[in-house]
Amino acid sequence: MSANTKLSEDTSVSFKGWASTGTAVLSEFTYHPRPFGPKDVEIEITHCGICGSDIHTITEGWGKHTHGPVIPGHEIVGKVVAVGSNARHKIGDLVGAGAMVDACGDCKDCNTGYQQQCAQKSSTYNDVFKDGRGGNTYGGYADRVRINGDYLFKIPSDISPAEAAPLLCAGITTFAPLKRHGAGPGKKVGVIGIGGLGHLGIQWARALEADEVVAISTSDSKREEAKKLGATGFVNVRNPEEMEAAAGTLDIVLCTSFGADQSWDELISLVASQGNFIVVALPEKPMSVDCWTFIGRGISITGSFIGGSEAMEEMFQYASAKNVRPWIETRPMTEANEGVKYVMEGRPRYRVVLETEAATRL
Ligand SMILES: [Zn+2]
Ligand SMILES: [Zn+2]
Repeated sequence: MSANTKLSEDTSVSFKGWASTGTAVLSEFTYHPRPFGPKDVEIEITHCGICGSDIHTITEGWGKHTHGPVIPGHEIVGKVVAVGSNARHKIGDLVGAGAMVDACGDCKDCNTGYQQQCAQKSSTYNDVFKDGRGGNTYGGYADRVRINGDYLFKIPSDISPAEAAPLLCAGITTFAPLKRHGAGPGKKVGVIGIGGLGHLGIQWARALEADEVVAISTSDSKREEAKKLGATGFVNVRNPEEMEAAAGTLDIVLCTSFGADQSWDELISLVASQGNFIVVALPEKPMSVDCWTFIGRGISITGSFIGGSEAMEEMFQYASAKNVRPWIETRPMTEANEGVKYVMEGRPRYRVVLETEAATRL
């Protein structure tokens, strides 16, 4: 542990979590949180979703742990049990935190609603706080967490806390770019990958009232489920006839997953002239594409990373109004390791949410 961490511990309090120390197996880990700041909110965690990013971090697919033992989890829902003198939540509120817990609040990105792109942003785990008070960030596979209340969002009363959890990362990751790029009436939208992200992408495109919503998958077994999620069409990437018929027809394609044996060129060829190919999947290998694939028809290849605070509020409003919900399986927090293994094997349909004992007291 760094000296930085030691300077900022509240040694009167201990939080217990499940941490990775560089192996794929999580073990119990106790830490002292930072001393309470004026905007801080302490949450008794009831639910935390397991995100693909947690797996990449645990298995070090994106690089080594840089800040000591890592408590993963950035789809955190819980009840407020203590607040700082200037916090925007009150005791008893049900709130959620996504993949970021702090930003400078005063740069170009912060001032335009892209706090997630701020150079001073702190990720929810495997990071340090950059606000001058020191300390490592720890995630939601735990009993409690202390977070700046500016980065906590009230959960609408019609969304169950377990279903709210995946919306905080998978939900915002798919909602924000579709909304920003105008998925809506008059547009044909494709969603590549029907999994943890994609099953929400299909629902958002439907909620935003796109003319057509085409689910794009490598597996015919997802055809029926795609329809239930609101897809009006289906393309199997491994079916050359279906790929040829769909080529150049989609105004917006959201790429939520990419298999090692796939071709970027083939997927991008589905986009209509002047359309957008939006990448939210984060494969561990670099992207390889023949430039003519997008130059020839003026296609924009763009990326999107979670979403800012305003987008998060808007996302919850849409989820409420249009009944967008993740499909989830819950299991006890004490089975975090089993849950992680299940996700690594690609078995959930479509998100796993860990539930603490505090959930029984809601
Ligand atoms: Zn995530
Ligand atoms: Zn900033």
